[in-house]
Amino acid sequence: MKLDPQLPSGPIHDAWTQRRRELPLISPINKRRFKVLVVGSGLAGASAAATLAEQGFRVTLLTYHDSPRRAHSVAAQGGINAARNYQNDGDSVERLFLDTVKGGDFRAREAGCHRLAEISGAIIDQCVAQGVPFAREYGGTLANRSFGGALVSRTFYARGQTGQQLLYGAVQALLRQVDAGRVELLTQRDVLDLITVEGVARGVVCRVQASGRLEAHTAHAVLLASGGYSNVFHRSTNAVKSNASAIWRAHRRGAAFANPCFTQIHPTCIPSGDPGQSKLTLMSESLRNDGRVWLPAQAGDARPPHAIPEAERDYFLERQYPTYGNMAPRDVASRRARERCLEGHGVGPGGRSVYLDFSDTIRREGRAAIESRYGNLFAMYERITGSDPYAEPMRIYPAPHYTMGGLWVDYNLMSTIPGLFVLGEANFSEHGANRLGASALMQGLADGLFIAPATVSGWLAGHLHTEVSADHPACRDSIAAVQARIDGLGSTSGGHSCDSLHRQLGDTMIGACGISRHADGLRAAMAEVRELELAFAQELRLPEPRAGRNPELEKALRLEDFLQLAGLMLRDALAREESCGAHFREEHQSADGEALRNDDNFCHIAAWQWTGEGQEPTRHCEPLHYRHATPSRRNYR
Ligand SMILES: Cc1cc2nc3c(=O)[nH]c(=O)nc-3n(C[C@H](O)[C@H](O)[C@H](O)COP(=O)(O)OP(=O)(O)OC[C@H]3O[C@@H](n4cnc5c(N)ncnc54)[C@H](O)[C@@H]3O)c2cc1C
Repeated sequence: MKLDPQLPSGPIHDAWTQRRRELPLISPINKRRFKVLVVGSGLAGASAAATLAEQGFRVTLLTYHDSPRRAHSVAAQGGINAARNYQNDGDSVERLFLDTVKGGDFRAREAGCHRLAEISGAIIDQCVAQGVPFAREYGGTLANRSFGGALVSRTFYARGQTGQQLLYGAVQALLRQVDAGRVELLTQRDVLDLITVEGVARGVVCRVQASGRLEAHTAHAVLLASGGYSNVFHRSTNAVKSNASAIWRAHRRGAAFANPCFTQIHPTCIPSGDPGQSKLTLMSESLRNDGRVWLPAQAGDARPPHAIPEAERDYFLERQYPTYGNMAPRDVASRRARERCLEGHGVGPGGRSVYLDFSDTIRREGRAAIESRYGNLFAMYERITGSDPYAEPMRIYPAPHYTMGGLWVDYNLMSTIPGLFVLGEANFSEHGANRLGASALMQGLADGLFIAPATVSGWLAGHLHTEVSADHPACRDSIAAVQARIDGLGSTSGGHSCDSLHRQLGDTMIGACGISRHADGLRAAMAEVRELELAFAQELRLPEPRAGRNPELEKALRLEDFLQLAGLMLRDALAREESCGAHFREEHQSADGEALRNDDNFCHIAAWQWTGEGQEPTRHCEPLHYRHATPSRRNYR
């Protein structure tokens, strides 16, 4: 397998301009002759589909939701980054670029990070033009706030509903194209396989959820924008249906999977209240602008928070990280919270949470100020926990949230399968080993609004193949393979439900491959995952019929993919003998407990190749070169 990142030569400051200059164009009349398939209607997929259709391509968009507006992106709360320097606090494209490279712990490509920073401003303009109601200052300029890992205010927001408002903007643009007949929108379609013809991606197989019918859809290019895979941990902040199937099946068809072990644990989630719970709720990172994180200084102190005097509180992030304080990046804040809880300082059931306290800000600025910034988040917290966060501190704990790994893509967002592009959280992207807050929405929209429309068009310019008909042998073969897989799943008499196996997988993964990892734990987890795979193959209980709507069957198909992906994540974590961003190997840490990177041996992207059922996958390396950002130890103290 050849990993050619297709980076433009010359300085990165000019790289994207240069690439756009190089990409061939297609005349508007010819664009109509091309068909593009987009999987996913989140921010990345909806914006790509709308933009490509606006350019004149024929687009089919597949999503398993009943409405594109229900994509997981709708859940994003806190905001989206852009280097606009409205506050005059010293922000610039250069600074956002450097923060992104450093935040990712020097495990992302410089040119990609620079492009992201460059495009960030245009994203905000486009979204404002689409009517996204970003918060504004008295004078009318857009307001912004800061997020973890940055010392400037560059996060644009719409109260605590930024993702929802951005998605509504993108979906309106999409529906305009549906109305114009340029986008065919197919909902309730579960994409289960990729169709390749002579090694080129030419379509997908999906299951119509209402009827169980399998369909083949073909095109000149396929774009996967199917989101992240945090649900491999079972309980995460992701939408319950978020899955890895589309990218995992593409991986099995030849697309390299990059850095699967780079997964982010978010420090501010509402702790789980019930072992049977299937989803965790995030409290946006923006809350840490005004909330202070603390724990009782005395281990085992069971007094209620208001009974603990100031002098007996430990504001551990402010103490350990005086420069960034409560805005320390997510991996750092999560590790420190877990560590304090393991040392017996944690509060709440099982000592598994820390306080996020707004009383200082409420005293200083008044309740109304907090209400105007975070009112809906506070209401959500109270609805879920029954506790009023205006009156007593929130209780929060880290939870799986985001996946920096995903399908390997080159600078043009093309995977190792020609004609297969991957966008948004589904690719391995610019976040390196750790994603800074508010940069996922930025990346998804950069991919969908600006990058893919240029590069997909550039690829299509040379590839006006004849259309592949739905009864092409490759389509028939893929449909037959999916049908055989469905027929072979489980039985009505099996002893394990999908939910119970998924819960066990989650426990294994969070224990061995969550905030902290160790070689022995990773090896033990590999054996446990193999046992779960066996239980899945031999003892899965699955209700009939398979023909019509069957949510258990949908879960089983996803779980089978998660089990295989979990094996790859553990292998990847084991192979990466360093601590890096969100990947913290206990064997590699400094005397003060900070992550120790190993640039000599691991300054690369690890891209895995599928080699067949039951075979060891092959690990390939794409070396990373830093010419503009000097690799340094990430120090937030
Ligand atoms: C609670 C929460 C808060 C967040 N807050 C922020 C924030 O403030 N700022 C920020 O930058 N980021 C935030 N994020 C991260 C950000 O929301 C996501 O990374 C981003 O929305 C992902 O967008 P996407 O378009 O790549 O994928 P998604 O929005 O996940 O969309 C995936 C789409 O693919 C479809 N799909 C998936 N699999 C299949 C399949 N097999 N067949 C058919 N369709 C499929 C789904 O239907 C969906 O339409 C947050 C995430 C969470 C969970």
